Amino acid sequence: MTPQPDPTITDTLPSRGRVHVIGAGPVGLLLTALLQSMEGLSVHLYEKRSDYKRTRMVKLASYLVADSVESYRSDHIDGESVDAIFDPVELDEGLAFRQSIPSDLSSLLREWSQGFCPLNVIERSLSSLIDARASSTVQRSSMVMTPDDAMAMLAPGDILIDCTGCKSLLRDHLVPNAGTADVDANTLNIRLEYAIVVTFLYGQAYACNEHCKYYKNVENQEYKFIPAVHRTFYDGNISHVTGIVNITAEDYDAMPSQFDGQWLRDHFPGVARSMDRFIDKIKQETHGEVMGDLEIVRIPLNLYRGRNATSRLWRTSALANHPFAKSPVFLLGDSAIGSPYFQSISLGFECAMFLAGLIAQRDLPVDDMLDRYELFIYKQWLRVYMRSKMIKHNKDLFESIDDPLALLDKLHIY
Ligand SMILES: Cc1cc2nc3c(=O)[nH]c(=O)nc-3n(C[C@H](O)[C@H](O)[C@H](O)COP(=O)(O)OP(=O)(O)OC[C@H]3O[C@@H](n4cnc5c(N)ncnc54)[C@H](O)[C@@H]3O)c2cc1C
Repeated sequence: MTPQPDPTITDTLPSRGRVHVIGAGPVGLLLTALLQSMEGLSVHLYEKRSDYKRTRMVKLASYLVADSVESYRSDHIDGESVDAIFDPVELDEGLAFRQSIPSDLSSLLREWSQGFCPLNVIERSLSSLIDARASSTVQRSSMVMTPDDAMAMLAPGDILIDCTGCKSLLRDHLVPNAGTADVDANTLNIRLEYAIVVTFLYGQAYACNEHCKYYKNVENQEYKFIPAVHRTFYDGNISHVTGIVNITAEDYDAMPSQFDGQWLRDHFPGVARSMDRFIDKIKQETHGEVMGDLEIVRIPLNLYRGRNATSRLWRTSALANHPFAKSPVFLLGDSAIGSPYFQSISLGFECAMFLAGLIAQRDLPVDDMLDRYELFIYKQWLRVYMRSKMIKHNKDLFESIDDPLALLDKLHIY
């Protein structure tokens, strides 16, 4: 029998409402700061960490602060995808929302999209901005939220937003009847590669480009060290360099999650030789020294998405008494979409702006709100999927550049 709509499931949200944001990483914090100044909303932010300690340097995309469609689509890889995926009216609405962002917040976004910044500086700045604003207070709870806690705290009409990162608290709970054993019930995951990400400081200006990637790897038959060009920058004293080396699944399994250059030399001399050759060539060229040690993390580069980014399925399921049927739930940031190659915070911020714009429309039917968010997230997924696949394809070709037959095997023209 087709389930009938439950009369206790409301069409629109109450004019004054509560929003629960779980996870105060960069994306949860930005969303909170956007919602904080909205009339009629009270925001409750939950976080398990007591301090912000992640010092890795991150870069935000310039499209976050774009003031025209031209500047929004200026990235040479995804400019065309933007045109292909979004209607002009959607782009205009996004730009209009950016113009409405309070100046305390928009000036921070402008600052971060100009250069590099430690992740914890972004987190601390947003957190302090939220606390310092006199307009309205955000209630904060320091706790490890569980899915049961999240369900229990919801009153009908509350909004729940999961910003808990790649190991999302609620992603796989958005599918009714999935069952606890059904891990990844709602997750599509594409493993692009395993890699180590190497970061170091260098005491001279070092500008990297595509030619530099090639010439400094000429003797590296395998384990090519590929610097992330747009992540290499000189702050007036030192260059901050980040590079990726593709490794095998076996290498990945045998490495700790974090280590230094010496550990790599002792345990993976082949990988270390490629990295050191690359760095030696930088030194020969610019006569500088690496400052301190290399910081290395091993990561699986996953491209993934929650197939459902909202609780939409619960509203039409037979389980109408479930809290997720009566309160809209959204995934945001790494909780919703994961993209390697240094683009996720910008993607999460972009989605936070869209979601805040939807929540501001209190008379919007809940079903429309959920559908519009699903569509937007799907479009962002297509965009980041295309960009990431293009980067991965270019990396694959680069890795075979010295072997024409292997290169041709990877081309697949038509
Ligand atoms: C080496 C490296 C370099 C990177 N460089 C860049 C870059 O240059 N640009 C870029 O855009 N991105 C970069 N990224 C990715 C970026 O760091 C993440 O995409 C970003 O941190 C995701 O933000 P988030 O807020 O969605 O999730 P997270 O940062 O993961 O935050 C989630 C928050 O939720 C909290 N939380 C989780 N579970 C619970 C729970 N049960 N209860 C309460 N709280 C909970 C966590 O403590 C955390 O504070 C990089 C990543 C790596 C590994």
